[in-house]
Amino acid sequence: MEAHGPAPTRRTLLRSGAGLGAAALALVATTATAHAGDRRPRRAAAYPPTHWIPASTSNYRVSSRPTAYPIEFVVIHVTQETFPDAVKIFQDPARQVSTHYMVASADGYIGQFVREKDVAWHAGNKDYNNRSIGIEHEGWVDDPAWFTDEMYASSAALTAAVCDRFAIPKDRDHIIAHSEVPGSDHTDPGPLWDWDRYMELVNQG
Ligand SMILES: [Zn+2]
Repeated sequence: MEAHGPAPTRRTLLRSGAGLGAAALALVATTATAHAGDRRPRRAAAYPPTHWIPASTSNYRVSSRPTAYPIEFVVIHVTQETFPDAVKIFQDPARQVSTHYMVASADGYIGQFVREKDVAWHAGNKDYNNRSIGIEHEGWVDDPAWFTDEMYASSAALTAAVCDRFAIPKDRDHIIAHSEVPGSDHTDPGPLWDWDRYMELVNQG
């Protein structure tokens, strides 16, 4: 495991974020929505800023969700890798794994690797992959120092926005651990993930 500080790849990713702060990006998104004449309720959670870092096209399946499959779950993961190492895995066509989103530990930066309409391969269960959005979190299940305030806040805002978009109930029957996916042999996000805190944040979103 590397030190907690940012690795070169990570700095490159941050530079590619166009230098806009979160508030500026949120403002851009709000303006774009208003101009689109969107009539959805205003109380819907605002999407936090996300950064497109495409996975290898060999690591997910193109689909047309929610038409092809309903999106009914958000699956919460912990990477067991650094953010930059996980990016390499999602972009390696031999690995056959991906996620829709990954949240960085230090600052809550969100990478998006697969479009929500497409099926990411994260849950180890075809049916759950078809019907879920996967969110990875940088860190290790046995070291809660990786689970920062910034990570919880950013991830919860993302999950709240996903739930609003697809009308997914914001409860633990629908926002689930990878370890709770039927047939899963993974333990993430593990017992040190603070579900009470996370769900409170999601429901504030
Ligand atoms: Zn997982």
